[in-house]
Amino acid sequence: MPNRWGIPKATEEIVINRDLNCIYCGIRFQESDSNRKTGRTWEHIINDLTLTGVENIGLCCGSCNSSKGIKTLQEWLNSKYCTEKGITSDSVALVVKKHLGP
Ligand SMILES: [Zn+2]
Repeated sequence: MPNRWGIPKATEEIVINRDLNCIYCGIRFQESDSNRKTGRTWEHIINDLTLTGVENIGLCCGSCNSSKGIKTLQEWLNSKYCTEKGITSDSVALVVKKHLGP
């Protein structure tokens, strides 16, 4: 999994061990999966490429990543994709919840 996003090695290692499932839809990653939809992709939870700490970097599946695109987290959670998949502020991973208000 080449990292083209300028994510520090230290962050990368922590996140790879933490996010065994998509941080959004919860799909379990397979080590060797190179499928564009179900494979792991690097995600900046807040769309700011300068935020490369473990609190803003996560792994999500290709399908969630391409759906989220440049939307903010809140906008995206209200999208058709999330509604259909049952992705809500309650169902996402803890690292994502931390970015959502109470
Ligand atoms: Zn996903």
